[in-house]
Amino acid sequence: MTYRDQQLREEKVFKDPVHSYVHVRDQVIWDLIGTREFQRLRRIKQLGTTFLTFHGAEHSRFSHSLGVYEIIRRITDNFSGRPNWNPEERLLCLTAALLHDLGHGPYSHSFEKIFDLDHEDFTKKMILGQTEINAILAKVSPYFPKKVAEVINKTYHNKLVVSLISSQIDADRMDYLQRDAYYTGVSYGHFDMERILRVMRPLPDKVVIKSSGMHAVEDYIMSRYQMYWQVYFHPVSRSAEVLLSKILHRVKALYQKQYPFKQEPIHFLSFFTGEIAIEDYINLDETIVMYYFQMWMNEEDPILSDLCQRFTNRRLFQYTDFNPIRKITELKELTYLFENVGIDPDYYLVVDSSSDLPYDFYRPGEEEERLPIYLQMTDGELVELSRASEIVESISGKKRTDHKLYYPADLIEQLPDHKIEKGRIKALLGLK
Ligand code: CA
Repeated sequence: MTYRDQQLREEKVFKDPVHSYVHVRDQVIWDLIGTREFQRLRRIKQLGTTFLTFHGAEHSRFSHSLGVYEIIRRITDNFSGRPNWNPEERLLCLTAALLHDLGHGPYSHSFEKIFDLDHEDFTKKMILGQTEINAILAKVSPYFPKKVAEVINKTYHNKLVVSLISSQIDADRMDYLQRDAYYTGVSYGHFDMERILRVMRPLPDKVVIKSSGMHAVEDYIMSRYQMYWQVYFHPVSRSAEVLLSKILHRVKALYQKQYPFKQEPIHFLSFFTGEIAIEDYINLDETIVMYYFQMWMNEEDPILSDLCQRFTNRRLFQYTDFNPIRKITELKELTYLFENVGIDPDYYLVVDSSSDLPYDFYRPGEEEERLPIYLQMTDGELVELSRASEIVESISGKKRTDHKLYYPADLIEQLPDHKIEKGRIKALLGLK
């Protein structure tokens, strides 16, 4: 028996609040879970700063990754023996599912923006580089690491395999919607996954849904829509995200000015220079980031110290609806007024915009990622979901954007009343 086919003597299970149990039978999967690179995902939260809004949302990328694996395990078990399904692809699907988020760093969203990083790039490096993960994958076959990276990058030749891991109805989305709903405690995000899994069918180049499962899929699309606006783009979580970005921005600026840190940003140095070795990346997790933030609360620099205290003690910025395009003059005036009263607008006056497209039909030449969902009619014909479902049609292709302006209401309130700018700032921000 090769390493590829090696089964565990006894099946291992992980208790999981979303899927009840995660079942592991393959030696390869068990060994991958045990690597230091995969265990690191326990120290990265799935939802970044969302725990400051929904206190239950402390779940990790580790639990999400196991969840995506479990969904793929069930799908590939269902596919076994069906036409168009090549059982040789099973282990590749399971592995890609398990490792798809491997390259996520701490608070990825802010880190990627400030340091111009790409977590997908790190996923690839950890799969192909000198890592424990790579050593295990290479034991399956010399080409196996490359194949896994291709599936995650969506360049693998078998598009059916790619569509299971990334499409508009993939295992990734099905896990995070349910898991994030469970841990935040919201009532959106629930849909009948068991039903969807039962009606999924493999075609040579994609997965399709039997038409009888249309209503379960509608429910899934609507729950995604709700979760984006109620949880993922929650204005309070975005406020914490703004603080986090501004802390990183400040540390980088101070470092470039050779500011004498009491607590040198040792773990961040390679991020400032842009030459990040896998080792540096693996060593930076959220526990380390939080350690620095607490230490930097004691720095002489008033901006760094204040922002770190705000993040650690959850003294977030206030926000107001604000369209930066329509209100460009107001933004300019506010910037000027903030400068006048000594509140640095680069750090304390921030516009944040979030947008989402809940579902999209196929648009040739545009974002290839948005593979549409197809229903398979009883006669075998394929119909794109928004053509069959009026509910999905009504939100299909419609991008919604939300703009907010963030500012420290407490600092404005503390300005002396005789300051002429105070009244004007409050009027512009709609503060009473
Ligand atoms: Ca994911």
